[in-house]
Amino acid sequence: MSTPTPRAPMLATAEALATLLSAASPIAGTESIPTLDALNRVLAANVTSPLDVPPMNTSSMDGYAIRTADLTVRDYSRLPVSQRIPAGHAPEPLKPGTAARIFTGATVPPGADAIVMQEQTEAADADVVILHSPEPGEWITAQGADIRSGSVILPAGTRLTPQALGLAASVGCAELVVRRRVKVAVFFTGDELTMPGEPLKPGAIYNSNRFTLRGLLEKLGCEVTDYGIVADRLDATRATLREAAGAHDLILTCGGVSVGEEDHVKPAVEAEGRLAMWQIAMKPGKPLAFGAVRRAARHGETSSAETFFIGLPGNPVSSFATFLLFVRPFILSLAGVQAVAPRALSLRADFTQSKADRRNEFLRARINPAGGLDLFPNQSSAVLTSTVWGDGLIDNPPNHAISAGETVRFIPFSELLN
Ligand code: AMP
Ligand code: MG
Repeated sequence: MSTPTPRAPMLATAEALATLLSAASPIAGTESIPTLDALNRVLAANVTSPLDVPPMNTSSMDGYAIRTADLTVRDYSRLPVSQRIPAGHAPEPLKPGTAARIFTGATVPPGADAIVMQEQTEAADADVVILHSPEPGEWITAQGADIRSGSVILPAGTRLTPQALGLAASVGCAELVVRRRVKVAVFFTGDELTMPGEPLKPGAIYNSNRFTLRGLLEKLGCEVTDYGIVADRLDATRATLREAAGAHDLILTCGGVSVGEEDHVKPAVEAEGRLAMWQIAMKPGKPLAFGAVRRAARHGETSSAETFFIGLPGNPVSSFATFLLFVRPFILSLAGVQAVAPRALSLRADFTQSKADRRNEFLRARINPAGGLDLFPNQSSAVLTSTVWGDGLIDNPPNHAISAGETVRFIPFSELLN
């Protein structure tokens, strides 16, 4: 028997995250792609508007464009209708003392300073009776009300949501300059792992983490190479690491990072690069391995010819939580995203947890109809059901018991899973 690895001092969650993030700088490599294909990609450059939006004064109602000075009688003026302006047509200047029939989105004719909605008018032969005295500017969306020409509408580092794509399109951007996708290699260790579809032998379990982690990586927009289960042999593990390092930004593994475990991931990474084994004062989670694997320098690369390595614990809830709290912000930083921290809510605990833990707990909880939080009864790191039942994680500081009615920090999965 080899001597057991001495226990490393426990790292605080924030400290571990800061160390990871300080190592992650945005990957090189950008591409220009059609705006229609850019959902979830990360902008590599600011998007500046070349025009005002809307590009002209537009009517926001179906009705009549008038000049307020022409309405001398309060709430009753009869004006001849001098033109009809549908959306998409250039108007004539408004003749003094007349009204123009106008529709939503149409250009307000020069000279008009208000729109009267058609519900506040009556048609009378070729005239219109205006039954309302509008304020100047009423129902007009001014040129540039949304966007001013020359302004930055989307800064570099923005992850493109559907509404961000819409905004880029509203200023006429047909293409966007984005960073290339982060390339992640993933593999799994453990002789007990079996793929769904295969019979389960005695002592075996299904490789559920493969599905969870693949899904998490794909949601982040990564280009994923999945090496599946790598045979638990040093040469096989080293060969996989070398192969993966050549074509990826990050190698992610799952399992075999617990203290003292007989496993080949740790010696393989040490032989192919460098590795720090962390004990993080968190629950679930705790063990996390962070390091890098050497690779031949790629074209155009001057600095560190290394591919990052992160080894996650094997317990399904531990790997899920450590991914969300550490790997997600790390990958987003590599992807060039500016805002990587999830936004938390302050919510009322509708439960009591009288026993304080010395570690930072991430409790699976869900929002009840009263707006408070219910706790999943079994918080074991092996109980994956809790992650499906829950809406998010309560970030409970070390040595802190929770009393019902107390406000706690809740990080919704909606913040962590995008
Ligand atoms: P380990 O981190 O390898 O010590 O594994 C801790 C626990 O997680 C053990 O019960 C493993 O069987 C389980 N485990 C490891 N990898 C996986 C996986 N890919 N899917 C599901 N469970 C796993
Ligand atoms: Mg294992």
